[in-house]
Amino acid sequence: MQAVELVKMALAARENAYAPYSGILVGAALLTREGRIFSGVNVENVSYALTVCAERAAVLNAVSAGYRHFEALAVAWNKEGFCRPCGACRQVLYEFNPKMRIITADYSGEYQEQLLTALLPDAFGK
Ligand SMILES: [Zn+2]
Repeated sequence: MQAVELVKMALAARENAYAPYSGILVGAALLTREGRIFSGVNVENVSYALTVCAERAAVLNAVSAGYRHFEALAVAWNKEGFCRPCGACRQVLYEFNPKMRIITADYSGEYQEQLLTALLPDAFGK
């Protein structure tokens, strides 16, 4: 699957984000080895610390459906600049595939692609 297609899906998923406190709407699209795509959005909470990122929401969605082999993840938001996964999300993604392609996009669909190992060098692994 092309990166641009995953970015479009992440942008579409972003519309369902629940972000009444920050106003930062984030969507993710996670591609499995089998070719399935699972989306996720950020879900904020008034207590802030309980907020869940779009990337982790996508992983939870996929694992809940029985998928554990991930090839790529696109993440996009409603702001300028590339939407970089936070440290917690990088570690969660690393659990399933350290060599996963990570595609980070801005509000317009401009994107950049990197390997997860570049975003999380010397990671804590199995
Ligand atoms: Zn995160």
